[in-house]
Order: sequence, then C-alpha cells, then structure tokens
Amino acid sequence: MLPAWLSSADFLAFTLANPEKLPTDLQPLTFRLQNGTDCQIWDTGIICFTPQHYGNNDIVLSCGVHGNETAPIEICAALVQDILQERLQLSERVLFLFGNPPAINAGKRELIDNMNRFFSGAHGISDDRDIDAINDAEISFEKRRCARLEQYVSRFYQAVPAGRERCLYDLHTAIRGSQFEKFAVYPFLHGKPWSEAQFSLLAASDIHCFLLMQTPATTFSYYAAQTHGAHAFTLELGKARPLGENDMSRFTKVADTLRALISGADIKTKPFVETDFQLFEVYRAINKHTEAFELSFASSIENFTQLPLGTLLATDADIEYRVEQPGEAIIFPNASVAIGQRAMLMVKPVSVIGQTG
Ligand SMILES: [Zn+2]
Repeated sequence: MLPAWLSSADFLAFTLANPEKLPTDLQPLTFRLQNGTDCQIWDTGIICFTPQHYGNNDIVLSCGVHGNETAPIEICAALVQDILQERLQLSERVLFLFGNPPAINAGKRELIDNMNRFFSGAHGISDDRDIDAINDAEISFEKRRCARLEQYVSRFYQAVPAGRERCLYDLHTAIRGSQFEKFAVYPFLHGKPWSEAQFSLLAASDIHCFLLMQTPATTFSYYAAQTHGAHAFTLELGKARPLGENDMSRFTKVADTLRALISGADIKTKPFVETDFQLFEVYRAINKHTEAFELSFASSIENFTQLPLGTLLATDADIEYRVEQPGEAIIFPNASVAIGQRAMLMVKPVSVIGQTG
C-alpha cells in the first residue's frame, strides 16, 4: 500500500515540494507494495526498492545532479511512478537519486556549487561529521548533498553481501549540441579493463560514443567506480531543455534499456566490436590563464567537432592554441570560467584493443 501522502505515486512532485529535506512528521517512510517490493524513502529525492526476489545486480540510477538537465529527471520519475503503481515489476535492487531538487525547482544547473565536482571527499565533509549540524554559511547545500549521496550509495551497496555486480548510471544532458547526440564518460579505472558488456549494453541505449578518462576526477561516476568498484558512467543524453519540453522520443532507447535492465526483460545486445564505437581519450585540457582568454570559434560549436590541423582554437593574451593532432576534437568549451579553470577539453580517437574484459 502506498502511504496516503504518496497516493499519487508522483515521487518527483513530492520531492520538488520538499526540496531540501523530508517533512519531519512523515510516516511511514518504509512500505511494501502488493507485489512484495519493499520501498524505502531515505531522504528527499532518494528512494530504494528491493523486490521480494532479486538478481545479482545492484543498480543506482541518478538524475538531476545538474538541476536543468531535465530529460533524465523525467525518465527516472516515470520509472519510479511505474514501480510504485506496480506497472513495472523489478527483478533487481534499485536506488533512485534525484540529485539537486532546489536547482531543479530553480531550473538551474546549480545554485552555488556544481555538484559533479565535489565527490570522492571534495565536498570537504569528513565521515564523522553530522551533516544536519552544518549550515549554509559554512558549506553549501550542494556540497552537503554530495556527501549525502555518497552515504546513500554506500548504504545501498553495503546492505547486501559483497561480490555482487554493482552499477551506477548518472544521467545528464549537455549544455550544447554534439556531433554525437549521446555519449558516455567512462571514468578512469586505474588500469582495470574497460567492460565489453557495458559497452554493449550502452550501445543498446543508442550510446556509441565514449570518452575514456585517464585520470581520477571528483565526479559522481568516478566516485562509484573507484570507491565501490561499480560499473559507473556519466551519460550525456542530448541537449538540455526546460522540464516538460523535452522531445521524449529521442530518449526512448535509453528509457527502454533502463526499464529492461531493472525488470529483467531481454535486452538485445551485440558482442563488442570496436569499430561500432567512437572512442576518445583526453589529449589535453586548455585552461584559462588571463581575462583576455577568447575562443576562436562560435560559442555554439558542437561537442566533438573536429577541426583541421593548425586551426586556431583560442587565444589567451599572447598564447595561441591550435589543433595539434589529426582527429583532435573539442568538448565542453566555456570561455566564462574563472581564471585557472578548464576552458575546454581536447580529445583524440583511441583504441581499446587488448584493454577490455
Ligand atoms: Zn550535467
């Protein structure tokens, strides 16, 4: 039975009505559906499902870590509603996270801090601190929320015996268009093999372009991979639009694959063949050193645009940046970052032959 306060099964609406925390008088926070699925609400925007019988996968789906990246929020909200209304029977344990509800309400990427930069402890909150006792003046809601998300992911994975398959898909949309509408950022694995099964699964979601990272990061997906050994990805699913204005037909394959993944339905995958994919690695980051930093192309340029060798990319006072490598492509250009921050990333094609498993 759904509790009366959740009778509409609209967990997103409930989350957005209580963006920072749950009302204190809310009962019950744990309930069981008629199909035997246990539901636990751990915090605003955080709901954990445990079906009566479950397989070997512990799956985390997160969205809204950037508040204006709305299509993934709509995808996850629909999945949660279908589970609560028993239209979707789970076959695996699943944890849903709606990352930044105040920013979703504001229609903004973030209010103070970009949440996808403060994981793996970069939020600065030590394990033994009571997060409830920290106020906004000391540490922003967003950094506190990062510390909370780490705790919830740990609780979810550690509630069952070790040795199971863990995965985390952190769903985003990009600020700009892209030569490849959908792409995945595969966090640095410290030399462990890239997963062929995950490449194939994501290909079934219409994701064929991957950026393979070669260094640690403070993103949510790197945190899950490094701290919990999860198969973890940041999935960029297309261009962000306001909530309710997305053309959801562009996300059908992703939504269908996630639905199949959590309910044990068949997913049509093909064996991994590298030529089916566009794989890139970071070649260099270009940082902004002075206020004179200027991009030499239209700011609307799409991610993964490749320019001819020697093309001027940017100037920064008396420094000139030009294309140095065949196939070098631009991603995430942003001239308005603070001095010292990354203004763009240059990537180049890479092969993973002999490095997959
Ligand atoms: Zn994002």
